[in-house]
Amino acid sequence: MDTPVESRPPHDAAAIPARDLDPAALQALRAIVGEAHVLDAVAERYAYARDRLPWALYQLRAGRLPATLPAAVVAPASRDELVRVVRLANRLGLRLIPFGAGSGVLGGTLPLGHEVIVDLKRINQLLELNEIDGTVRVQAGMNGAQFEDALHARGWSANHLPQSIRMSTVGGWAACRGAGQASSRHGKIEDIVIGLEAVLPDGRLLTVRPVARRSVGPSIKDLLVGSEGVYGFITELTLRITRRPAHVQGRVYAFPTLAAGLDAMRGIVQAEGRPNVMRLYDEVESASRAQGEHGIDGHAPGEVLAILEFAGPRVLAEAEAALAHDVCAAQGGRRVGDGPYRHWQQTRYDSYSIQWQTRGWYMDTVEITGPWSALPRMHARMREAVHALRADIHFGAHWSHIYPEGACQYMTMRLPPMDEAQALALHRRVWDTLQRLCLELGGSIAHHHGVGVFRNEWLREELGTGLDLLQILKDGLDPQNLINPGKVGLRGAPGAIEIRGGMPAAQGDAR
Ligand SMILES: Cc1cc2nc3c(=O)[nH]c(=O)nc-3n(C[C@H](O)[C@H](O)[C@H](O)COP(=O)(O)OP(=O)(O)OC[C@H]3O[C@@H](n4cnc5c(N)ncnc54)[C@H](O)[C@@H]3O)c2cc1C
Repeated sequence: MDTPVESRPPHDAAAIPARDLDPAALQALRAIVGEAHVLDAVAERYAYARDRLPWALYQLRAGRLPATLPAAVVAPASRDELVRVVRLANRLGLRLIPFGAGSGVLGGTLPLGHEVIVDLKRINQLLELNEIDGTVRVQAGMNGAQFEDALHARGWSANHLPQSIRMSTVGGWAACRGAGQASSRHGKIEDIVIGLEAVLPDGRLLTVRPVARRSVGPSIKDLLVGSEGVYGFITELTLRITRRPAHVQGRVYAFPTLAAGLDAMRGIVQAEGRPNVMRLYDEVESASRAQGEHGIDGHAPGEVLAILEFAGPRVLAEAEAALAHDVCAAQGGRRVGDGPYRHWQQTRYDSYSIQWQTRGWYMDTVEITGPWSALPRMHARMREAVHALRADIHFGAHWSHIYPEGACQYMTMRLPPMDEAQALALHRRVWDTLQRLCLELGGSIAHHHGVGVFRNEWLREELGTGLDLLQILKDGLDPQNLINPGKVGLRGAPGAIEIRGGMPAAQGDAR
């Protein structure tokens, strides 16, 4: 029987040895990528021992490693070097973790058993922009902001604009099945990626040729998009691009209640409007946006704000703005000054979490998908349940990925500074409460951050038999379990540690 999570011993990183790579393996890696591109000093490995999983940052803040120290870091410069690294790993039984920029927030790159990190950022060229097809070929390790800037310079955009664009790679977007700020109009990364190339766990190449659509069995592309590194290394992507919009206009509406705001967002997309940006904030998040230098006049308590942006040919953007205005007005929405829109534009790629983490708060975010019929209840019950755990936990939410059938509810929680053991237990209960309520109310436990290691615990309930399919595929592609073991709810490697919903089990407790 499983030990109850709450009673597991605290994770003591000092007890986990810094396992070094065998000198012959190090030498063989250096022969492939060059001396300078294999890092084996403890300080260098330490820098790769975490991603942006908040729980991992709490551990580091308290002087502990969140998981284990990687055995080494290797950075191939090309797909061919990567293939040689993977083949070597197969021969020597080395475990590897694909690493983009480490901005993932679910622990997808955490080494659970001293794996070798494979940093893909040197594989970073923009290969070809096809102005007739409206596509771009790009290598997976290219930085997101550099990629979008290069497209902008030529008058194009890939329209995948995550808040983390400056700190993530294009390959990481696809691997995590992410969503950007223009998703309501342009879709998520799976809608934007039309072709890809990957190195499979045994070193074979997989190519999905870029075409608008195909009907040849299940989508192979979609096995890789969202695979978080467990099915191999994405090395190249072909993305759909559009010309930069000729006209962009932002608008802000205030609604008397959250229910009215949600109905307005639903009404716009169900009337076939597709604003470039749609963001509705709950009462808590609206209050902070309505006040101050960038605020609005006459904000009433309980009023909620929505930011809309319309973009494209002027005639289209103006028609959509008029449609949205009518829908908002029908829900009692009033148009207010555009201060909150301008402020959002200026800060849209900033990260707020570090200021809280460094001051001892326990900040985290949980994004889920809910159907419209359940979203008002989801918000109310989740807020209530979090406050029932402890009244002074900050809870705020917004909806910024909007679909005709439902939306992503993105929740920010902050636990005030407190005794660490108490905070970690409470943090875990907050997560468990939100994920279970989401499942109970008919939602999906993850909209765009992925599973990593932190959501493993709830994946069986989310996927049911689907999780067995993922494991069968993993076993077939990677029989030695060499590539990113223990992630996306899949079996861990023997002797590896396990992190479940924020409570690590002891080393050796492999599933
Ligand atoms: C402040 C902040 C804001 C964020 N905002 C957003 C947002 O708006 N939208 C959003 O979707 N996400 C967001 N994220 C989450 C994160 O940035 C994304 O998931 C991003 O796509 C991860 O990219 P990365 O290159 O940093 O990947 P990493 O963190 O390096 O890796 C993430 C996972 O993908 C795997 N992986 C990475 N590259 C490859 C590859 N080439 N081939 C195979 N597997 C690979 C890794 O093994 C790991 O499992 C945010 C994170 C932060 C910290």
